[in-house]
Amino acid sequence: LAQLFRPLDMLGMVYRTIRQGVIDMEAMFALIDTPQEIVDAPGAPDLAVAKGEVRFDDVVFGYDADREILHGVSFTIPAGKTLAIVGPTGAGKSTIARLLFRFYDVNGGRILIDGQDIATVRQDSLRAAIGIVPQDMVLFNDTIGYNIAYGREGASHAEIEEAARGASIHDFILSLPKGYDTRVGERGLKLSGGEKQRVAIARTLLKNPPVLILDEATSALDSRTEAAIQDVLGRIAQRRTTIIVAHRLSTVVEADEIIVLDQGRIVEQGTHRALLAGDGLYAQMWMRQATERDSGEEAELADA
Ligand code: ATP
Repeated sequence: LAQLFRPLDMLGMVYRTIRQGVIDMEAMFALIDTPQEIVDAPGAPDLAVAKGEVRFDDVVFGYDADREILHGVSFTIPAGKTLAIVGPTGAGKSTIARLLFRFYDVNGGRILIDGQDIATVRQDSLRAAIGIVPQDMVLFNDTIGYNIAYGREGASHAEIEEAARGASIHDFILSLPKGYDTRVGERGLKLSGGEKQRVAIARTLLKNPPVLILDEATSALDSRTEAAIQDVLGRIAQRRTTIIVAHRLSTVVEADEIIVLDQGRIVEQGTHRALLAGDGLYAQMWMRQATERDSGEEAELADA
């Protein structure tokens, strides 16, 4: 019997690997039309976004039936406000972002946008309302202009340029040999992490969604690039309901609300100031990262 199950296990593993690949690609909007397990209910209405309030109501979820990842997560992001999710690795931060985009259906509870359960509306209308700036954007093997234009079908050149300006990448593009017609991606010009992130931001600006998910890069950018990107992200998060999946605490100080997730549960919630004063997990994480930052700066100085 074991011999029969081993290949089945293997198949399961292959399936999970492929599925993860699909998720990663969807995160850059490349495979939105891929057939999924998630299906629209017959006659499902479009999501109607009036203000953009996002609410998780006792959300329970596991990727596999035998392992629950989120154990009843509830929070509300008022329209136009920014919520940052922090917590140890594996806590379920990115899972929350994936559920909001409805890559998976929840096992319990509900996710609501302006009072509408996202499981009951058409998926394409949901995804049209949400922009994602992923951790690590994979570019299409096409021109840099095309890579930005992908944010909105039929965008004019002037609109593409305006988005590039908003993402502070227009001047860089003009400095390239063929400007907006320069080919990028695997077979073209290789862009740095910071440049790719700006392309993702420009694409999102063009899409102009009322709800935004920023999945912060884990890989460190140099501090000047990072400050510039933070500045741009701060601007695009204004007037939009924003979820930041944060890996570095320095980026969440300005958030209207921070939730600290640990093993699939919210263990603390509040503003940066309140959480620091609370002396709990957030305060500990902050102290640890501050120490790392300080020793990092010393190392940089020593190198100079
Ligand atoms: P990190 O800070 O390391 O990015 P995270 O808090 O974003 O972590 P998630 O990516 O949400 O964590 O993962 C939460 C848990 O779910 C982890 O234990 C992970 O192993 C599991 N998990 C994530 N994706 C899948 C998947 N596609 N299939 C099965 N389990 C998964």
